[in-house]
Amino acid sequence: MVRQTYSTDILILGSGGAGLFAALHAHKSAPELSITVAVKGLLGKCGCTRMVQGGYNVALAKEDSVERHFMDTIEGGKWLPDQDLAWKLVTLAIERIHELENELGCFFDRNPDGTVHQKAFAGQTFDRTVHKGDLTGIEIINRLAEQVWARRIQRLEEHRAVELVTTPDRSAIAGVLFIDMRTGGYVLVRAKAVLLATGGGPTMYRYHTPSGDKSCDGLAMALRAGLKLRDMEMVQFHPTGLLAGAHTRMTGTVLEEGLRGSGGFLLGGNKERFMPAYDPKAERATRDFVSRAMFTEMRKGNTTPHGGLYIAMAHLGPERVRREFKGMVERCADCGFDLAGGLVEVVPTAHYMMGGVEFAADCTTALPGLFVAGEDSGGVHGANRLGGNGVANSTVFGAVAGDVMAAWVRKHPHREADENQARAAIEACEAPFARARGDLEAVREALYSTMWERVGIIRDRAGLERALAELDAMDAELERSGIGSHERAFNLTWHDWLNLRSLVSVSRSIARAALAREDSRGAHFREDFPEPGALESSAFTSIGVDGRVAMKPVAFTRVRPGQSLLKHAA
Ligand SMILES: Cc1cc2nc3c(=O)[nH]c(=O)nc-3n(C[C@H](O)[C@H](O)[C@H](O)COP(=O)(O)OP(=O)(O)OC[C@H]3O[C@@H](n4cnc5c(N)ncnc54)[C@H](O)[C@@H]3O)c2cc1C
Repeated sequence: MVRQTYSTDILILGSGGAGLFAALHAHKSAPELSITVAVKGLLGKCGCTRMVQGGYNVALAKEDSVERHFMDTIEGGKWLPDQDLAWKLVTLAIERIHELENELGCFFDRNPDGTVHQKAFAGQTFDRTVHKGDLTGIEIINRLAEQVWARRIQRLEEHRAVELVTTPDRSAIAGVLFIDMRTGGYVLVRAKAVLLATGGGPTMYRYHTPSGDKSCDGLAMALRAGLKLRDMEMVQFHPTGLLAGAHTRMTGTVLEEGLRGSGGFLLGGNKERFMPAYDPKAERATRDFVSRAMFTEMRKGNTTPHGGLYIAMAHLGPERVRREFKGMVERCADCGFDLAGGLVEVVPTAHYMMGGVEFAADCTTALPGLFVAGEDSGGVHGANRLGGNGVANSTVFGAVAGDVMAAWVRKHPHREADENQARAAIEACEAPFARARGDLEAVREALYSTMWERVGIIRDRAGLERALAELDAMDAELERSGIGSHERAFNLTWHDWLNLRSLVSVSRSIARAALAREDSRGAHFREDFPEPGALESSAFTSIGVDGRVAMKPVAFTRVRPGQSLLKHAA
């Protein structure tokens, strides 16, 4: 069934900030190597790095420091981040931002004195977010893609990875099986080193922000390959997703945090403010807190016609709002809302997965030859990701992975790929062609409801147990469902089926990890366990394909709860 087989030294899955940085660094370290970037969409046009609005956190200013960025990351992550990973993030972000500007050609906004402009983002004690207006991701990805196109780096576009293929004894990675989406044929790419950089993405929730090409395929493949995922219960919700009705993809997209930051009000369906009753900081409280308050109001039934809440900006002066939030005003106008002078319906929206594959600071994983970087990886952010630390994470660890893989492949040969495993993976992908057409829309709706209502912003044991039973039922339904066609080229119903398969599998890991964590930290809130627990004995969840969750102690390698690197530095 495999129509084509290729060989490459380094195979990179995904072309976001992590994948493209890895390709450029691997090429720089070892230009003689063959490097292939394989991606579900078109290189430079897909994934979430392109969608980055706010910007990139990096300690550049004289008054700022990596210690301060580190402490913000650890405290924001509620003491669950892996401290060595977080340290690598904050220290190497400085190198990467200089590389982006001085070698790769990015233009970031500057102050009148020529220094790079850095703006405020929630949860940080210093204004350290570098940006290009509110379209920072397009600037970064366009420049990275141009540099990749200019080099001898192979591309497999519209190639969907479906299985990490190991050696017959499953002791190391040997390659990856793909579907060439343009033909529907199977392609096996043998590689000495593989980078998983498919960007996670919580698109199993009714309201979500990430790009539609992301369906947690990488995490689902990692589970099947025997890897452990950590912090899977930690799903970040952004408070202000646009709510424009069920039948537009604009629903769920982000209205930026600056709206609340600059004084915007959140109103219930009764058109009254509710945040002051929840927190003295009202609308300026952190993302997790505001999302929880919003969800509580929605559960009380204090909702707008579409079942959400309102954001109001008019009291700041419509002219000012139009001037300062041009992009947001236009986005709302496209959906029939007047942000500057009227009310806009909003809802908390699933934004980012802090959880992912367990990995070391050199991007290695438990499977020799398999590396991970970006949103597919777990442990950098702990219970919460600071706005601006996401793109820093993908570029920093993408570059690390590129350097490390280049050295790795010089020492390691191609390995034999397990043909039985590849055959079984193809059979699993082919299965829906042999069945009567099922109702995939119904499965998707069920998934959205289960994850939003029971595994979302507010959780408890009964709801999570029910969710797990519902996810089992969805899995069984998928296993019965066919796609009603034998066409393979660009068969989007087939890819929908494959997307749902990955999403249901990863949703189970989220629900099981959420059930195992009997406390409330950052993005994870249990109504039946509302306290954070002792920070000194902090543990993270670790889950494998068997669904069993281990609680592993966090190693405080640099600073312990109650201490600060800043105090030590002083
Ligand atoms: C609307 C929005 C705004 C954001 N704003 C910010 C911000 O201001 N600051 C910040 O720090 N972070 C922000 N983030 C988060 C940030 O975008 C991500 O953390 C980061 O870009 C992830 O990079 P990545 O390389 O891991 O994944 P991505 O950039 O998402 O790339 C993933 C790649 O994998 C590919 N892929 C997926 N599945 C497969 C498969 N099966 N086979 C092959 N390829 C596959 C995709 O097509 C894509 O090319 C934002 C996210 C969103 C959605």
